Amino acid sequence: MASYNYTKMICDLCRKKVDIHIYTAFSQVHWEEVDGDSHHEITPWKHIDLSVLFKTEQTEGTPCEPYFNINTLDICPECYDRLLNQWPIVAFGAQGYNTYESKGAEEK
Ligand SMILES: [Zn+2]
Repeated sequence: MASYNYTKMICDLCRKKVDIHIYTAFSQVHWEEVDGDSHHEITPWKHIDLSVLFKTEQTEGTPCEPYFNINTLDICPECYDRLLNQWPIVAFGAQGYNTYESKGAEEK
């Protein structure tokens, strides 16, 4: 049995808009970009919770003390690859023991 879903995706970071066809066949989820009658398979987009930095409060949008908030973003594969290389905090760990590194921190 297969399920089909047509949707429009908008990348929250680069604003790219793509018509997407998502379907499952033989237990595999496939993503296709739809352009008129032509479909071609693409890398699935990410829908992930990220910590983002706000510099405005969210009622009036006025400047405030910066704060972090977890927001769910749709991210295209190109922006996701870029984030993997740019993300400022990297974690290493196993079984609940983690260490964190900030890319901007001085090497010791
Ligand atoms: Zn993007």
